[in-house]
Amino acid sequence: MNDVMDKKKNTETADLRSMTGSELSDFFADLGEPAFRAKQVFSWIHEKGAFSWEEMTNLSKNLREKLKREAPLNDVRVERMQESRIDGTRKYLFALSDGNLIESVLMRYRFGNSVCVSSQAGCRMGCRFCASTVNGVARDLTAGEMLAQVYAIERELGKGERVSHVVVMGSGEPMENYDAVIRFFRLLADEKGKHLSFRNMTVSTCGIVPGIRRLAGEGIPVNLALSLHAPNDEIRKTLMPIARKYGMDEVLAACGDYFAATGRRLTWEYALVRGINDSPEHARELAERIRAYNGVVNLIPVNPVTESGLKEPSGESVRRFQEALKENGAEATIRRTLGRDIDGACGQLRKRVMQGEKPIGDL
Ligand code: SF4
Repeated sequence: MNDVMDKKKNTETADLRSMTGSELSDFFADLGEPAFRAKQVFSWIHEKGAFSWEEMTNLSKNLREKLKREAPLNDVRVERMQESRIDGTRKYLFALSDGNLIESVLMRYRFGNSVCVSSQAGCRMGCRFCASTVNGVARDLTAGEMLAQVYAIERELGKGERVSHVVVMGSGEPMENYDAVIRFFRLLADEKGKHLSFRNMTVSTCGIVPGIRRLAGEGIPVNLALSLHAPNDEIRKTLMPIARKYGMDEVLAACGDYFAATGRRLTWEYALVRGINDSPEHARELAERIRAYNGVVNLIPVNPVTESGLKEPSGESVRRFQEALKENGAEATIRRTLGRDIDGACGQLRKRVMQGEKPIGDL
């Protein structure tokens, strides 16, 4: 429990949403409450997605008042929401208790509702095509703040509709906030809570090799998406500073070992940038590099970020790239571009609001 308490030391409040069942038991035992109290509260937070103590009507009024002061649950609130008129994608901007802003996205697919959560407020990894990194990183999020993004969105969906898939692909590099991300996955999977299958969870990394290797040994078979974005180290280094630390061979080998340990098929995220990594030659080189691994390439026409100067390729060159991959033995899908009429790309809405600009989905 100490880690969880430490995270909020400055505010001297307890972070109950981040606690496991047994940590909650210790917490309520210290308050002199009966053992079943922890079970009730765990269910309220993780199964019913409660955001206030008032809702927990099977707790005494005195206890609710005490917890309201000492363990607030309204630490993550919706600041703004944009909904795409084209595909129903919703972009949420959440305000945290310390004033930091984070983004989450709800994507609606035939297979269910998928929520993309942030793991940090901002990001320090510096990928050129990404708006999340423009102002650096403010801080790591707690597991509870990540869970709150999922629970708040599910609550807004209304009765009968559920979040079926979760991807940690928003702002932040999950491997930089490793312990909280693992705690988040385990709490999501808890059978007394939301009870989501690890198979419906995905973590995306820019290629932090020790993190990938550590994750392979956790015994939680979540899907792994690698932000690859280039067919070789030379181009990768121009787009992603992390490529100077971990070369492609080393990153691909770690992913291969992840597949061997978990049996989860890999996804290679590839943002296509006009004139930089989008030629059929690049596709052939890429196919050659990844052929030995069990994975699928997810092609994403880059979302222009003002600061980067990077341009989106034409639809025709995206299709040509996909064809060239297929001809050379690599499976590839083109990501459906969701939320084009709102600030759909990672970090865009947060950046605009922080800089006092008008978000593009606002009327
Ligand atoms: S793509 Fe991911 S790792 Fe890279 S800067 Fe953006 S949030 Fe960070």
